[in-house]
Amino acid sequence: MPEGHTVHRLAGAFRTRFVGKTVEASSPQGRFADGAALLDGRVLRAAEAHGKQMFLMFSDELWLRVHLGLYGMWRFAGPGLAGFGRRTMRVAAGERVVFPPEPRGLVRLRLLTRGSVADLSGPTACTVISPAEKAVAMQRLGEDPLRDDADPGRAFAKVRASRSAIGLLLMRQDIVAGIGNIYRAEILFRARVDPHRPGREIPASVWDALWTDLAVLMRDGVETGRIVTTEPADRGRASGKARRDDASYVAHRAGRPCRVCGTPVLGEPMAGRTLYWCRVCQTG
Ligand SMILES: [Zn+2]
Repeated sequence: MPEGHTVHRLAGAFRTRFVGKTVEASSPQGRFADGAALLDGRVLRAAEAHGKQMFLMFSDELWLRVHLGLYGMWRFAGPGLAGFGRRTMRVAAGERVVFPPEPRGLVRLRLLTRGSVADLSGPTACTVISPAEKAVAMQRLGEDPLRDDADPGRAFAKVRASRSAIGLLLMRQDIVAGIGNIYRAEILFRARVDPHRPGREIPASVWDALWTDLAVLMRDGVETGRIVTTEPADRGRASGKARRDDASYVAHRAGRPCRVCGTPVLGEPMAGRTLYWCRVCQTG
């Protein structure tokens, strides 16, 4: 599932290429024909992300709420959109460039301007909502470290009120919005915190450290489009860019030696996902 940094990057792509433009909206797959008809011909006014959800505002304050879920993706085509990696529609060498390209697969929603196209496929949620419904959706979401209006104190109050494990609480989108399995594992490791420690036993200083670290790592993720949490000295190769294999301390490394102590990294189920951690390093 894309973590929050990806959704913020996508919102950035919309701000750069679509905001201020009149948009032709359609549903090539047909499943969102009514919603697309409501948006068609309107100007896109704003694009914002909150956690893993994206909100696009069209003229007359009509909002589109999109949650990609596990399988959803946006594919872009048009100049200036090449930085969005696998989600960019590539043109094979020698192929004639046709714009807009044919929709690929089951495209729920296509947003088209004169120079740019964005195709949405496989989202968990894609709905047209009113400003009041948008406000309700935002209220349900927790604090997003990538937003200027984030209040880490509000998230901490929820953590302190709970006996649940911090590893579990961090995955709750109504506490911290945007965090996913990789950031959860990595910030707990970097702070040397035992993921099973109950929320109500987490001191304010530890919470501050977790939050600050998360914000730094996620901002880096928005900039680069990758999650890299390792310090150069802890990688197999200290110079140059982190390789895929060197990007994390514990995430997706179950059974492999901990980069710090050499003990095999553990992988166990928590909050429906595999929790990765080191029993020796994370005792705090
Ligand atoms: Zn270790």
